[in-house]
Amino acid sequence: MSVANEPSFRESVDLMFNRAVGLLGLPPGLEEKIRVCNATYTVRFGVRLRGEIKTFTGYRSVHSEHMEPVKGGIRYATSVNQDEVEALAALMTYKCALVEAPFGGSKGGLCIDPREWDEYELEQITRRFAYELAKRDLIHPSQNVPAPDMGTGEREMAWMADQYARMNTTDINARACVTGKPLNAGGIAGRVEATGRGVEYALQEFFRDPRDIEKAGMSGSLDGKRVIVQGLGNVGYHAAKFLSEEDGCKIVGIIERDGALTNPDGLNVEDVRSWIIKHDGVKGFPDASYTENGAAIMEEDCDILIPAAMEGVINLSNADRIKAPLIIEAANGPVTAGADKILREKGCVIIPDMYANAGGVTVSYF
Ligand code: NAD
Repeated sequence: MSVANEPSFRESVDLMFNRAVGLLGLPPGLEEKIRVCNATYTVRFGVRLRGEIKTFTGYRSVHSEHMEPVKGGIRYATSVNQDEVEALAALMTYKCALVEAPFGGSKGGLCIDPREWDEYELEQITRRFAYELAKRDLIHPSQNVPAPDMGTGEREMAWMADQYARMNTTDINARACVTGKPLNAGGIAGRVEATGRGVEYALQEFFRDPRDIEKAGMSGSLDGKRVIVQGLGNVGYHAAKFLSEEDGCKIVGIIERDGALTNPDGLNVEDVRSWIIKHDGVKGFPDASYTENGAAIMEEDCDILIPAAMEGVINLSNADRIKAPLIIEAANGPVTAGADKILREKGCVIIPDMYANAGGVTVSYF
């Protein structure tokens, strides 16, 4: 998502980094060394599909190898580009440092709309991508360990682990080349829901400290808080599910690709999720108002706004109309540097992505 005069995602991450690092008094030159991505690899490969050779472009960026393995998800989306993977890789370095997971930061992406391909085709594409990365040690149990991200999940991680194991038949640690695998393929229980669970925990902690609550101009506990969620995928679904089922929150808005649902009495997250899986969108869901202009719902009155879909959705074009006093960045980089400034001046409190969505990498470390 880009808006005129708005810095790119990568520049936005750098601007926030500069603001933080300015308070540290680092030795000359170290700031620049930390900021830059160490290496970004572009792979272009062909896969014979539907009677012709289709060419795909993928990336793996390593932001910092100060600790290895480096860690970071692989994303499947048409928006994937070098700027995006580098921004996400940098965020991974900062995130791992913050939660003291002993990893450097990395990120990968494949420029593809996964919904355009069937399962067999996706497996061929994923295996070939994994082969290209493994050939260059950009997937490696002790050096570079991907995880799921937008558009990928347990299934893709299992294909990648299997591909790596086939290429490294004598490596006893081969399956440790990726995290986020299914349990039956060596994954860890709790990883699927970990990022959403972490979002819930971050909010629980926020409401435990009266100074934080006061700073946001709020009162009380999570119980009864009105929540709007953007993106009911892995992170958004689990966060919304736990907050509504365990903390007494009311999910009054859910924004998806094809529009948004609202209900002041609260939406049943499980029912909405089932509806999306069956109908490929939220439209038509009973017991809620539907609007096609989903983004506008982020500007509705609520207590907590959870952007859990993608970067740059709260930007210079809409920041001044956002009413939520508390935003938790469940996605990576949903609030741009420009919007961050506008919102903070308004008194809005933003719980940052590198803390809020670190639950996934934390469980992967376990
Ligand atoms: P996902 O693919 O499971 O879910 C993304 C959801 O957002 C989907 O339901 C999709 O339909 C929806 N969406 C896409 N574009 C949208 C739009 N324009 N408006 C509204 N909804 C839209 O992805 P995910 O794994 O849940 O990742 C979401 C975000 O969280 C990403 O920024 C990712 O980097 C970040 N994140 C994920 C993890 C993880 O463990 N999966 C960990 C840390 C951070």
